Amino acid sequence: MGRVIVIDHPLAQAILTTLRDKNTKQIEFRKGLVRLGRLMGYEIVKSMDVETVEIETPLGVKAKGVRIRDLDHIVIIQVLRAAMPLVEGLVKIFANARMGVVSARRVEESHKPGSLDFDIEITYVKVPKIFEDDMLIVADPMLATGSTITSVLKHVLKYGIPKRTIIASVIATKYGIERVLREYPFAEIYTVAIDPEINEKGYIVPGLGDAGDRAFGGP
Ligand code: URA
Repeated sequence: MGRVIVIDHPLAQAILTTLRDKNTKQIEFRKGLVRLGRLMGYEIVKSMDVETVEIETPLGVKAKGVRIRDLDHIVIIQVLRAAMPLVEGLVKIFANARMGVVSARRVEESHKPGSLDFDIEITYVKVPKIFEDDMLIVADPMLATGSTITSVLKHVLKYGIPKRTIIASVIATKYGIERVLREYPFAEIYTVAIDPEINEKGYIVPGLGDAGDRAFGGP
């Protein structure tokens, strides 16, 4: 069932602080997102079932260990373009993941003053088939109003219903989280922070600015 997991590990919080800092340059910003993706991967693995296995070591003795079966049943979807560095980090943990891509754009022109929600234009969807024993991880660093991620989920879940649906975000808001959980009560939202506000342009405050522009440069 749905839940929200805030990664309060001091390293994750320190990296987030660097990302928030307006003086952090593009390359450092991207590296920070990659590192957070890797930490988020560790955190997600903590919630996965492990089974005990027995192996034989080169010394000819048996040793007990663990195996995480679901590592072979991961589908990662990156929402272009800000999720790319985050996914680079996630893939270090989920090396066997099947990957999909969704391109989503907020339609700024249709935004009504006073409304927090945006129309979303989905321009490209390439998603592998999703099986019922898969864990789906949809990566989008900024969960602001929830408009983008709910539109993305609508498209992605047409490819199959996984046993778990995880949203990998870096900063979320209460508004966005509530919207996602209202529409997708089974979603599990991983984030590094929950910020208090969304401004009239739909940016998270204090936030970190436009994650795509900071990672790859502005228009
Ligand atoms: N997308 C961003 O890149 N930043 C925000 O603050 C909100 C959405």
